[in-house]
Amino acid sequence: MTINDISEIKKQIIKYGKKLGEKNMSPATSGNISVRTEDNIVITGSGTCLADLCEEDMVVIDKNANLIDGKIKPSSEKNLHTAIYAMRPDINAIIHCHSPYTSAFAVCGIPLSKPIISENVFYFGEIPVAPYALPGSDKLVENTAKFFAKHSAVLLANHGIILGAKDIKNAYYLMETAETYAQIYLNSMLLGGAKELSKKDIEEIYALRNAAKS
Ligand code: 13P
Ligand code: ZN
Repeated sequence: MTINDISEIKKQIIKYGKKLGEKNMSPATSGNISVRTEDNIVITGSGTCLADLCEEDMVVIDKNANLIDGKIKPSSEKNLHTAIYAMRPDINAIIHCHSPYTSAFAVCGIPLSKPIISENVFYFGEIPVAPYALPGSDKLVENTAKFFAKHSAVLLANHGIILGAKDIKNAYYLMETAETYAQIYLNSMLLGGAKELSKKDIEEIYALRNAAKS
């Protein structure tokens, strides 16, 4: 379900941008956030600080990334956001971050695929790594968007993470969950390696997830 009150959407983006900052997930002017309305998309402007947004830091674009309303340049990743919305009618909010722990896996090209925490198996299954391309480029869109056919969160090699959910609150929760997963995964490596869940454990989690969906 989408909401159409642009001012309300901007207030929500400000709220969750601030939370990303409080949790150290959006250094300086890195990252971008968007929310889909019935007709258009509200997206952060290029070069804005997600932790310190005001309403003027956001613009409205259409589904082809054309500027509809606003005085600043839309995010340089606008084409990636619109490509994901085009593929996934269930996604209405997208967060892209240079969050340190998930980005550490992204720069090493290591997918977050180890089944070591039940919550992450439930929410993500796997978070794959899309091949590197220049930030803001058409190639980055080409390399990344296709992963959203099967996944709702994707690491961007040598860059960061992008994920989507039904609304901004759930996108933010997914972001916290992914970042914590990466932090625990890294710590477990320092401690000698996590014990992985068994095939049976994973099947049980997937059954729980499928039941929750129906
Ligand atoms: P923008 O400020 O243009 O959204 O770019 C930030 C970013 O993270 C690019 O990948
Ligand atoms: Zn980025």
